[in-house]
Amino acid sequence: MTLNKICDVIKGASRVAILPHIQVDGDCIGSSFALALALNAAGKKARVILEEQIPTSYAFLGEEYQFYDTLEDADNFDTVICLDSGDEQRINKRMSLLASCKNTINIDHHITNTKFAKYNYIDEKCAATGEIIYRLITLLEIEITKEMATCLYVAIATDTGGFRYTNTTANTHMIASELLKTGIDIGDINRKIFETMSMQKLKLLMEAGRTIELFADGKVALVCITRAFIEKVSATDQDVEGLSSLPRQIKGAEVGILLTEKEDEKVKVSLRSNQYVDVSKIAMFFDGGGHQRASGCTLFMSIDTAKQKVIEKVLEQLI
Ligand code: 5GP
Ligand code: MN
Repeated sequence: MTLNKICDVIKGASRVAILPHIQVDGDCIGSSFALALALNAAGKKARVILEEQIPTSYAFLGEEYQFYDTLEDADNFDTVICLDSGDEQRINKRMSLLASCKNTINIDHHITNTKFAKYNYIDEKCAATGEIIYRLITLLEIEITKEMATCLYVAIATDTGGFRYTNTTANTHMIASELLKTGIDIGDINRKIFETMSMQKLKLLMEAGRTIELFADGKVALVCITRAFIEKVSATDQDVEGLSSLPRQIKGAEVGILLTEKEDEKVKVSLRSNQYVDVSKIAMFFDGGGHQRASGCTLFMSIDTAKQKVIEKVLEQLI
């Protein structure tokens, strides 16, 4: 499927639902808001449908544009566009919208994407879905405003870790350069998304440091965040976001694992690697997905059992 074909389908649409994945991150929320702004500018009725609160670090995007609705508000769309979502589970309850829609589109950059829509455009060479949305808006010949550029910059900056990860390409910088030309305030944006944390998150970070365990001569580093931990420092699930990059920063570590106890018998696993381990294979084994250097999955078992199972699989991949 070419992006031109996706463009043609979108041109024929009038009421469009845009669906970011659950456990929203900067890429899916930035890409969704940018596309909604662009399609509304082109005279369509586009809404972003969420089933959860936007994490506080990205709330400034939603506060400004107010383009989001909950599933309860969703009605009669002719086109649904899923963004940054590797599989149907990532769309969760909102999959019902796909069943009732004529045209369903899936735009993503995850190598593990299951192509669950009628029209699928997957480009795993893109560092962020935001890069694809930039190209799509350009192809649709819609002028990229400062507001759209702010959203796209958030999308691309977050998925590249501030243009530091190896997924960053010359094209990523070229797009960022075009976004900067619209006059966006990157100092302010970067401070909001990278340099601001709640007091609870800082406390969580300090506690997390105490739980670090090393395996395989320090090549694997693991952090466990239990419910008790989260409650002790009155942190929210959102405060846990971002801690996933902590374990792999320990010198000598190749794989970093963050286990977060979401509920009893429900553990979110975030996997990160530095240079050679393909963590998407590990996540896929547990019905999750992602990229070579950043992946995730959810295990329905106790945090201790999840830890054993994940460590076992990671050690297998190290060989
Ligand atoms: P994180 O660890 O930050 O939640 O996710 C890292 C990467 O893996 C992101 O690109 C995210 O979209 C993907 N990912 C995380 N959890 C899941 C999951 O349960 N299923 C799939 N398919 N991808 C996931
Ligand atoms: Mn992404």
